[in-house]
Amino acid sequence: MQSTNLRSFKRKLSYHRKSFRSFLNKTEKITIRGIDKLTPEIEKEVWQEVDCLSCANCCKKMTPTFTDQDLKRISAHFNQTPEEFRKQWLEKDKNKDWVNKQQPCQFLNLKDNKCSIYAIRPADCAGFPHLSKKRWKEYAHVHKQNIDYCPATYSMVEKMMARLPQV
Ligand code: SF4
Ligand code: SF4
Repeated sequence: MQSTNLRSFKRKLSYHRKSFRSFLNKTEKITIRGIDKLTPEIEKEVWQEVDCLSCANCCKKMTPTFTDQDLKRISAHFNQTPEEFRKQWLEKDKNKDWVNKQQPCQFLNLKDNKCSIYAIRPADCAGFPHLSKKRWKEYAHVHKQNIDYCPATYSMVEKMMARLPQV
């Protein structure tokens, strides 16, 4: 596994972004036989290559959404009520979800890119970037957002394009 070089990721992204988005747009509209069997296989390959600890770009540039369960669990850890925790750290986004007010995330240790609440982190963080969470067609729109920040999503789309040259 190689460490993630965010500068080189941004360079590659600016070069390929248009074609990757066009692939994602097409795969959102057409049904491709076998695509959902392919995604877990490719996801495994991605995680053999991408090292999140040398990246943490999601924790620096994006925010998780906090569910009620996340709020109960995390606020209890800090001896706060969910309301107190929300007041200190969160705001509502345009979808009325609770999200971080600040970026990087207040729980990211910038010295080593580790999450200080790893064991009790939001479910959204634990599953991110949700590479094969749902059928590809239903989730391509999320990959379109995440690809701008996440080298693992970039790698997933790159590999999918190589495996589906007909698209
Ligand atoms: S809670 Fe942890 S994993 Fe989630 S964004 Fe913050 S630092 Fe990253
Ligand atoms: S999930 Fe993506 S953005 Fe987050 S640390 Fe891993 S590669 Fe980086």
